Amino acid sequence: MVILIKMNKKNFDIVIIGGGHAGIEASLIAAKMHCKTLLITQKLKNIGNLSCNPAIGGIGKGHLVKEIDALGGIIGKITDRSGIQFKTLNFKKGAAVQSTRVQVDKNIYAKKAQYFLKNQSNLFLLEEEVSKILIKNDYIIGIKTLKNKKIFSKSVILTTGTFLNGKIYIGNSVSSGGRIKDISSIKLSQNLKKILTKVKRLKTGTPPRIDKKTINFSKLKIQKGDFPIPFFSFSKHDFKLLPQKFCYITYTNEKTHEIVRKNIHLSPLYSGLIKGIGPRYCPSLEDKIIKFPEKVRHQIFLEPEGLNNHIIYPNGISTSFPLQIQQKIINSIVGLENAKIIVPGYAVEYDYFNPKNLKLTLESKHIKGLFLAGQINGTTGYEEAAAQGLLAGINAALYIKEKKSWFPSRHEAYIGVLIDDLCFKGITEPYRMFTARAEHRLILREDNADKRLTNIGRKLGLVDNYQWIRYNKKIQNLKFEKKRIKNLLIHPFSSKSKILNDISLTSIISKKINGIELLKRPEINFKKLIKFKIFKPTISEKLLHILETEIKYYGYIKKEKKKIKNQKKYKKLFLPKQINYSKIVGLSNEIIEKLNFYKPSTIGHASRISGMTPVAISILLIYIKKNLFK
Ligand code: FAD
Repeated sequence: MVILIKMNKKNFDIVIIGGGHAGIEASLIAAKMHCKTLLITQKLKNIGNLSCNPAIGGIGKGHLVKEIDALGGIIGKITDRSGIQFKTLNFKKGAAVQSTRVQVDKNIYAKKAQYFLKNQSNLFLLEEEVSKILIKNDYIIGIKTLKNKKIFSKSVILTTGTFLNGKIYIGNSVSSGGRIKDISSIKLSQNLKKILTKVKRLKTGTPPRIDKKTINFSKLKIQKGDFPIPFFSFSKHDFKLLPQKFCYITYTNEKTHEIVRKNIHLSPLYSGLIKGIGPRYCPSLEDKIIKFPEKVRHQIFLEPEGLNNHIIYPNGISTSFPLQIQQKIINSIVGLENAKIIVPGYAVEYDYFNPKNLKLTLESKHIKGLFLAGQINGTTGYEEAAAQGLLAGINAALYIKEKKSWFPSRHEAYIGVLIDDLCFKGITEPYRMFTARAEHRLILREDNADKRLTNIGRKLGLVDNYQWIRYNKKIQNLKFEKKRIKNLLIHPFSSKSKILNDISLTSIISKKINGIELLKRPEINFKKLIKFKIFKPTISEKLLHILETEIKYYGYIKKEKKKIKNQKKYKKLFLPKQINYSKIVGLSNEIIEKLNFYKPSTIGHASRISGMTPVAISILLIYIKKNLFK
């Protein structure tokens, strides 16, 4: 463990600015790839702080965590070690949209993150604020701190989150800050504005935190975690699981809505004080009630912030009303009639830089060796930040080693979807990941993230021997079991076929079939085959679930892969300037408008226009084939 309290080393391969979720991944990856790495951050004890909700994962975000883990990143491992409730969301829906979400103990999460960093060789930590990045002839040469220290490096990764010229709003009160109780980064913001063009402002918000002792839990619905525990990491679970906790559910009501409506002029979001655009998919309570007046109630999850603290996070009611109004709102809710606010909710407004100025490696198009990752690129969320940190860390290390860069494409990973959206479409509001953003959802499942990416992680030197051996064993086991199920033959009129005919509702077994054909039937699954003693598995329930998904979705996956191949083929297909898109039947008005405006030169360009859908691209392809290749 090396912490540079007194700075005596001044030359590094890579300097990472910021110890948030992007900075943690970037630092560990760069050091793992044998680069002499320095993580410099305002407060060492704040490394790994979860600024908002005490949870990692969720729809689309869980996919990112699994992919980071498969590539040798750390967010999944930290989460598993600090998890106090694990759930698979959308369990009853299709495999493509199932996502893991884990409530964590916030303090333990930050401590574990710090532990991994402090024990990583090649990695040095320094507590200081960076005021300037140093550039010579369009090449990064290092950074300067507020204390006027110069540190030299060939690459710099900026991961400054919500801190660049951050401003905190609670009612009419505006103060400078990157997060509540944390100072904002003003000097660096001024410096970057001169170097990186197109700076804009975004905002995000967080709810008030409530004292657990003042909540009447007897009135609330309990939400339990899942068993067996759906861990995030593909690596060994050689740690003690923390005690598991419940969450609780309550709702806003007409009284709550009335308080919001009556006082809306006091919210900085509606008084005109806040100019930055907020996250559409994580709206404030104010927005929920004003923009969706038809909704009579909104769900609130009461989530514990830890095992031994008494703070409850009310998920779903982020607000920046003055404290007295926040208190009234809280007390209007069932179970919270006597609840006391410990920390007020607030909004934070900050600078971000247009990610269209970045390459797909997250390196600046204009300054060699400068990478940007996380909220600074306009995203919101720990997972989105971590994914970018990992990618920037990998590519900064490859840059140092003068090796070919690496980034996944849209059909390889959600990380690919994320960077493609950021770098080509840019952003106008805080960007968060959803499964709906991916065209190839069936291929990009959580359960096959390791199959998609472990090989790449291993080639990059990020997957250790243990993870690699474990991964290969898993693949072997799956293959072996697949063979076993294929060899299971069911003959018509046999005792097994009689049992199956009784439970199988669609059609009886009239000719010999094997286990794979059997599992393709919608009414058959491994659970039933095991229950009726038709098949005895040799692998875990979790692996059986993966195998079942692959068997059941085989036809769709095959089709999807063919589509990807075709898309690759057509990407460079030329689109003549004179096409009048208004004449193409099936395109929406919004798409027509955009196509007529941008006049893309190829199908590849068209697919990168913001708002473009895979269906619209298919319509374009049909039109071109019909009209231009006649
Ligand atoms: P951060 O985690 O913000 O870390 C930035 C780091 O950079 C900090 O350690 C800081 O000290 C350091 N730093 C900054 N400037 C300097 C400098 N000049 N020198 C040295 N160090 C510096 N996400 C959601 O998914 N949903 C939400 O509802 C949500 N709400 C949020 C509400 C609030 C109020 C805040 C603050 C964040 C919210 N987030 C939410 C976002 C989530 O916290 C961030 O997306 C995530 O933490 C971004 O990670 P990051 O690594 O980019 O930056």
